[in-house]
Amino acid sequence: MSLLFNPRTYRPTSFDEGTQQQLLALIDFFESKGLARNKEEYYSGEWYADFLKLVADKRIFATFATPAEVGELVGRADARWDLARINELNEILGFYSLAHWYAWQVSVLGLGPVWLSANDEARGMVAGLLDEGHIFGFGLSEREHGADIYSSDMILTRTADGGFTASGGKWYIGNGNAAGRLSVFGKFADDDPEHPGEYVFFLVDPKHQSYELIKNVVAGQMYVAGFNLHGYPVAQSAILHVGKPAWDAALATVNVGKVNLGWASIGICEHSFYESVTHAHNRVLYGKRVTDFTHVRRMLADAYARLVAMKVFAARSTDYFRSASEEDRRFLLFNPITKAKVTSEGERVIDLLWDVIAARGFERDTYFSRAASDIRALPKLEGTVHVNIALVLKFMPRYLGAAHGAAQAYPIIPVRQGAGDDAYLFHQGPAKGLGSIGFSDWRPAFDRFAHLANVAVFREQIDAFTQLVLTAPPTEAQQKDLDYLQVLGQLFTQIVYAQLILESAALAIDDGETRPGSVSDLSDLTESHLDRIFAVFVRDMADQAVALHGQASATEAQAAAALSIVNKPRIDPEAEQAFVSEVLSYSGAYEMKA
Ligand SMILES: Cc1cc2nc3c(=O)[nH]c(=O)nc-3n(C[C@H](O)[C@H](O)[C@H](O)COP(=O)(O)OP(=O)(O)OC[C@H]3O[C@@H](n4cnc5c(N)ncnc54)[C@H](O)[C@@H]3O)c2cc1C
Repeated sequence: MSLLFNPRTYRPTSFDEGTQQQLLALIDFFESKGLARNKEEYYSGEWYADFLKLVADKRIFATFATPAEVGELVGRADARWDLARINELNEILGFYSLAHWYAWQVSVLGLGPVWLSANDEARGMVAGLLDEGHIFGFGLSEREHGADIYSSDMILTRTADGGFTASGGKWYIGNGNAAGRLSVFGKFADDDPEHPGEYVFFLVDPKHQSYELIKNVVAGQMYVAGFNLHGYPVAQSAILHVGKPAWDAALATVNVGKVNLGWASIGICEHSFYESVTHAHNRVLYGKRVTDFTHVRRMLADAYARLVAMKVFAARSTDYFRSASEEDRRFLLFNPITKAKVTSEGERVIDLLWDVIAARGFERDTYFSRAASDIRALPKLEGTVHVNIALVLKFMPRYLGAAHGAAQAYPIIPVRQGAGDDAYLFHQGPAKGLGSIGFSDWRPAFDRFAHLANVAVFREQIDAFTQLVLTAPPTEAQQKDLDYLQVLGQLFTQIVYAQLILESAALAIDDGETRPGSVSDLSDLTESHLDRIFAVFVRDMADQAVALHGQASATEAQAAAALSIVNKPRIDPEAEQAFVSEVLSYSGAYEMKA
């Protein structure tokens, strides 16, 4: 019985032979190195040249990150951007080392503006570099401006020969020390005759003499560069996007990349979970196992329920992403939730586990001691949780309305685990009109499991939340009050999160669509798991409702309506006993080679 990825038993048989070999080669790389050496490199901040050699030799990034239409340009007929196997890669890399995952992640981000570009010369050149084993980077952030990318100070100035020079600085740019190319975001000079002050994406070669690498701005194995361009020459052939399309390419790239953070978070939590359960179950205090303490049992059960939920949601969200089209852009709601909610849940899992294993979580020879800090990065990168929750809120009226007569009809989205090129990701078009994206009625997903006590309570909480939104909507001032909106957004996010989990579960339990031979194998998922997961959700809804009630700006009506969401989970002692026994069955199930 297992719902978690375990390198010992992992057989990625849902993928073609080549993909299987590549995934297993990654596992073999980390296991052969062993935990002790991995941790030494982590603490010393050693650059992972051996890892990059492996992925180059085995063409791992080239295989996973070349879409079919780019493959055609460079004679790779079998190329495909296949989210099913990409998720697999993310989870495995997160499981072993977030620093190594980061080299992959920023390569994906760096490739995004190139694959989205109509500049075939640039696409072909970059595809060639990728094939040779190069890594890439995404130059969006600047030291002074954070999330405010409107204010870029990277300026392109026209030269007499019809080209440009770029000057300005970038900060927090992954792989900026070693990338084959960086996709850099900036603006044309305000006095440019053709594009005054307009946005631009262009390619930069970090080996050029006008590229000044300042330093690695973080301590660690991953290289997060600060760099300056000093009159860096930019030929027309290096320009990827001009004007509004450059802005759209930035957003579309982040849409593609940000879900990877959720998958990495799952991998981190899984590895930490094995270590923690094994440690706690084998530790005897006062003549009893630590796992006999009732609070420890509850924390481990909560951690496991949260972790399984993360996996079930992320897999279902991918089905929507892979099925996206001009007519179905619901992924624009689900992706920020994979990013913000799954990664935040990852933090909660690690917090729970850390409370269980206490001092052990600091020891240098554990995986956990790195997980404890690595897990913090994911909610903050590629748009903070706040930015993503603010985005999620744009969908709330149409989503809630779908259960009140304003549903939009869509074809059923099946499980999308098979091989395929997810071409739409690089043809998303402008990310506008979010508030007009319709949703299908989500009530059937809950009705299917309404006999489960905690799903039933949660369903009542949704009704109470809908009442709150209908009878006491945000005032005009609150519509600009991000503090109030964040809490509202968290409550709303929890509902969408729950819906997709139930959909995924119904597909697995009723239709046998369990995603076997993948990290998301749900063959062992049962209704008991769902009931326990929803026990956590009921508590989370109640916590957020109390937070809304306590908001300084909440009106009397809002405060009262918020309290009507508060409810408590139903935990049957026998079911809990069985659930905890399952949790403890993971003790000793996996340990990384020392
Ligand atoms: C390890 C690491 C690697 C990174 N790699 C890259 C990379 O490869 N390429 C790259 O371009 N960038 C990279 N970044 C930058 C990262 O994407 C930024 O950290 C992120 O965009 C947020 O910027 P900031 O952290 O400066 O926060 P700020 O933008 O300064 O935000 C400050 C606060 O304001 C809030 N806030 C800002 N805007 C909004 C809004 N619209 N709505 C609600 N709240 C808001 C934030 O939530 C936060 O609490 C990296 C950062 C780190 C730490």
